[in-house]
Amino acid sequence: MLSGWRDVTARRPWRISAKLLIISSVVTVIGFSAICVNVMLDMRRGEEALARQTLENLAATIDADISRNIEVYDLSLRAVASNMLLPEIATVPKPIRQLILFDHATTARHFGAIQVFDADGRLTIDASTLDPQPENRADEDYFRIHRDSPDAGLFISRPMLFRGAYSIVLSRRISDSDGGFMGVVAGSIRFSYFHELFERLSLDPDDTITVLKRDRTIMMRRPFDLDIIGKNLGTRQDWKADNLRAGGSYAGKGPVDVTPRLYVRSSGSGPLFVVAGKPLGAVFELWQKEAYRIGAVVLALILFVLASTLVLGREIGRRAEAESKLEEMATTDALTGLRNRRKFDSVIDIEWRRAMREKTQIALLMIDADHFKAFNDTFGHQAGDQVLVGIAICISDSVRRAGDCAARYGGEEFAVLLPNTSAADAFKIAETIRAKVQGWSDGGTGSTVSCGIASLAPTAGMDWAILVAAADKALYAAKAGGRNQSVVASLPTLSLAA
Ligand code: GH3
Ligand code: MG
Ligand code: MG
Repeated sequence: MLSGWRDVTARRPWRISAKLLIISSVVTVIGFSAICVNVMLDMRRGEEALARQTLENLAATIDADISRNIEVYDLSLRAVASNMLLPEIATVPKPIRQLILFDHATTARHFGAIQVFDADGRLTIDASTLDPQPENRADEDYFRIHRDSPDAGLFISRPMLFRGAYSIVLSRRISDSDGGFMGVVAGSIRFSYFHELFERLSLDPDDTITVLKRDRTIMMRRPFDLDIIGKNLGTRQDWKADNLRAGGSYAGKGPVDVTPRLYVRSSGSGPLFVVAGKPLGAVFELWQKEAYRIGAVVLALILFVLASTLVLGREIGRRAEAESKLEEMATTDALTGLRNRRKFDSVIDIEWRRAMREKTQIALLMIDADHFKAFNDTFGHQAGDQVLVGIAICISDSVRRAGDCAARYGGEEFAVLLPNTSAADAFKIAETIRAKVQGWSDGGTGSTVSCGIASLAPTAGMDWAILVAAADKALYAAKAGGRNQSVVASLPTLSLAA
């Protein structure tokens, strides 16, 4: 009970050490984890940037190839449209007319033969033959659009079957010098052109290339799927047009299938544009492996640090407890549980100097059991020990102020140090103790104690031995006065000094 206040002060430094260890470990772990997460996110961003650049280059390359071919083909269509206005065209022989109208570009591998239709949609001239079979295309989009709007320019049709092959049809209006409608010149680019173009590139099976018209109609897609070709993405509910602007990129689920991809759109200004896509799984495949590896190592390190911290913390706690117990034992009297003489000497030294600094009074009680030798002789040593324990309890019950120090001074003698206490107050406490012992032993052992009291305000150069000697002297006076009484030391000079 008495040692309670000391326990706390003795253990606190160790507790702080264990706490500090845990806090520093946790802070280290959090800091380390934050750095690792940051580095890994940086790596992820790097992988994404690299993939985006690769897709950008891919889309730009395909876009450039398609644009160049359309341009070349368009030049041929323009040439036909303007040459049709030559008056000689109607009169020259057919072979000569073919030579005038069609250049070699139109005979390239994936280009369909150019055809000329009159104002009623009838096929009049065909680059592939001198005597074309009669056919009428008045109902086709590519005919009607030129007939109805003189400014349609180069019109690119939806993908369609054209002369037995899936193609996109490119057409231009033939206008006379007054802008009147004379017919349409049309040609086609077969899908085989796109197939061959995509095959030339080394792509993964899940990579996508989509060629779209400006109105977002899908003209061609790899992997090839006829169900999607010709569909307009602008009409899809789950796909916002803003998701992909020219030159922009988008990561997530696309409008066609469920695989999340990184999509990049070409920035070309031709009539068609290209979107290249790569599955996010493939984009981050390497990064993911690396992240798992680093993550596992970091996690193992963190667990190791935390486990070590826990073990060390426990060890520190255990040691703190053991040390505090040891210290407790080293400063406590085994029989009575009061402070021992060694501790008393160090406490009186500290308090003496404090009183000197703060110019306060310090009091000392010297308490001695009366006729204890006789008691021992009569009841035995063990009974004597029990009386000493009883006296110690009476003392500690009467001395409760923080800073007070009750100790077993030696044998059957006790000392109580009372900082900041006057002789009168110390006397009261001494009397309380004395009365308590008497009351406790009444009807039992009949033990009593005598008290010597001294109180003074120490000044520079004074030694605490003066206080002990004075209290001792007062105790002697109490014994001489008949025992079971308290006597205050008369310290005229010292009191004056105080
Ligand atoms: P007085 O009233 O003058 O103090 O007489 P006294 O007999 O108490 O004084 P004295 O100094 O002659 O005897 C002290 C006795 O206290 C001697 C010893 O047997 C006893 N004593 C000292 N330490 C212990 C202890 O730890 N246990 C017990 N049982 N007795 C002790
Ligand atoms: Mg005695
Ligand atoms: Mg004695």
